[in-house]
Amino acid sequence: RTVYVNGEYLPEDEAKVSIFDRGFLMADGVYEVTSVLDGKLIDFGGHLARLNRSLTALGMPDPLSEAEWLDVHRQLVDKNGITDGMVYLQVTRGNPGDRDFVYPPADTPQTVVLFTQSKPGMADIPQARTGLKVVTIDDIRWGRRDIKTVQLLYPSMAKMEAKARGADDAWLVQDGKVTEGTSNNAYIVKDGKIITRDLSHDILHGITRAAVLRFAREAQMQVEERSFTPDEAREADEAFVTSASTFVMPVVEIDGVPLGDGRPGRVAARLREVYLDEMRKAAV
Ligand code: PMP
Repeated sequence: RTVYVNGEYLPEDEAKVSIFDRGFLMADGVYEVTSVLDGKLIDFGGHLARLNRSLTALGMPDPLSEAEWLDVHRQLVDKNGITDGMVYLQVTRGNPGDRDFVYPPADTPQTVVLFTQSKPGMADIPQARTGLKVVTIDDIRWGRRDIKTVQLLYPSMAKMEAKARGADDAWLVQDGKVTEGTSNNAYIVKDGKIITRDLSHDILHGITRAAVLRFAREAQMQVEERSFTPDEAREADEAFVTSASTFVMPVVEIDGVPLGDGRPGRVAARLREVYLDEMRKAAV
């Protein structure tokens, strides 16, 4: 694979980042994941806008211009022959030359890393037809989940626990309400109404969430942005999750309780189709 590190395109085994990098020592960095379908970037503008919000929230400048970001993404897709897959980007506060809680001087170069992942046929994975099983787990992450930091240990632990319990993923619960999935936003559908948690510091403002809710409203579906309990979720007609890398994925079981007839719901299937159609058309 060819990867990008601080202005250079290199074979992945020649790419280097300092052991003093604040991303490595302190998880002081942010990331984005943009899907590629048919060699084109899905919702690139949305991901760049959120990258900017994350950087601003952590007091970091944006190291590249919009045109430069687009160019690096496209070059990596091209150099690696990606038809379907992802481009991962990460920006950290860089290498202060030592370990220190105090931020390094503002002119310290940031570390910018991008790489691709090839996922042939990712828009057509069988799981979209069978659906996911989720279990609910305590949400003990920090209080600024709207910032897309590389601090992913707890989501990773929660996913491991979900797998150990025979499920595919976890829905995280804080104060008796579902916040989101380990790496996706969570939705339930009751009597035709789509319910998903409102935006705040408690959840990541999903780029896929924004697009899916827009398409749902354009199709005259009812949308309610509010939190819901695991009990309400287990009694829902259907459920689903959204993320840039999985699009819309149906959820068929919560804590061992099948939803409806235990098969992927019609609202999730329709939204997946609309999302993929519309986003392919708008891809860059
Ligand atoms: N919530 C969390 C915690 C996530 O990690 C992700 C995926 N990055 C999402 C939601 C979905 O966001 P997006 O649609 O922008 O991928």
